Amino acid sequence: MGRKTLDDFNLEAKRVLVRVDINVPMENGRVSDATRIERIAPTVHEIMRRGGYPVLLAHFGRPKGQVQRDLSLNWLVPELERVLKCDVIFVADCIGPAAEVASTILSPKQVLLLENTRFHAEEEQNNPKFAAKLAKNGDIFCNDAFSTAHRAHASTEGLAHILDACAGRLMEVELKALETILGAPIRPLVAVVGGAKISTKLELLSNLIEKVDHLVIGGGMANTFLAAKGMNVGISLAEHDMTSIANDILAKAAGCGCEIILPNDVVIARTFEANAPNEIFLVNGCPDDAMILDAGPASIEQIVRVFEAAKTLIWNGPLGAFEFEPFDTATNAAAQKASVLTEAGALVSVAGGGDTVAALNKSGAANGFSFVSTAGGAFLEWMEGKELPGVAALSKA
Ligand code: AMP
Repeated sequence: MGRKTLDDFNLEAKRVLVRVDINVPMENGRVSDATRIERIAPTVHEIMRRGGYPVLLAHFGRPKGQVQRDLSLNWLVPELERVLKCDVIFVADCIGPAAEVASTILSPKQVLLLENTRFHAEEEQNNPKFAAKLAKNGDIFCNDAFSTAHRAHASTEGLAHILDACAGRLMEVELKALETILGAPIRPLVAVVGGAKISTKLELLSNLIEKVDHLVIGGGMANTFLAAKGMNVGISLAEHDMTSIANDILAKAAGCGCEIILPNDVVIARTFEANAPNEIFLVNGCPDDAMILDAGPASIEQIVRVFEAAKTLIWNGPLGAFEFEPFDTATNAAAQKASVLTEAGALVSVAGGGDTVAALNKSGAANGFSFVSTAGGAFLEWMEGKELPGVAALSKA
């Protein structure tokens, strides 16, 4: 059965239990980046506009089943009121009579926020009795938290089996972008996978090799492949114990008709810090006492040419040690090219996972991408080809 959306429900006078991800970064007791709160606004406002009552369920941090004052959602109320431009009523437990009563006496233009679901150990255990208690606070379940959909918790999965369930607007946007890009991509399809280590991205690489036409490998993980091909990588970050796995991946790619693109020139330095003196070497010329920190200009040229011929791009991980200038050069140049091609209508580009959002924001090119997912683990698991329990439950609901 297909997934339902808010369009499938009459929301008039209905309490809509919305699972959101408002696990925002805080500094000195204040929200330092409200992006996640801003992104839930379309769903919350639509529910209110259509006569419904939004009841928000969320987690914050990792309290591991214990009540922890510093991880209370209470701290987010002023920021929610500022962004959502309405009253936010807070109840200090996500289950029990206080929450249930509050959900039934909401006024129009009020939002109810229930306390951190992870204050109860049963949340992460996906305990059905706990899910049933959560369900008492709503008539409809709306999951708008794609970024937690890789977890089978009571508020992300269990509830969909108890209440009529649908995807929220943010979840819809996220799923549409992701399903288009790997489900029915316009080819040629290119993936960029960068970052520190291949050991954390093995499943990702294996899945992508079967699906994409070109796979650009960058960052520290490229060093592991170069070492596996017998090249000297000096004192670079590289997983020398992964050599045979790296060679297996290269062989599998050749069998699938997937072209692997590794750097053919590199930027090396002798210290891992910003503005460290650096030189460009051909890929087989890295000195023993140096480390590879970025792809070189010829490699950037090659990546640009692949992007120009592509129709679809999926990107996870930086191409170099992007936090330190000038070792962000390849990441910036490739991101800017992807953004220009996307804005010209020549490319569909989706990026996400881990440090990718920070790297693309730093390049100034993030806004030019078709879609940048703020989901970390869920984006990666989806790229690995896994079924996400929170999404699957919506389809089965
Ligand atoms: P990940 O979390 O796996 O996406 O890895 C991101 C991290 O990889 C960033 O902190 C980068 O600085 C780091 N990184 C990328 N390329 C290199 C490299 N050549 N040497 C060392 N660290 C790198």
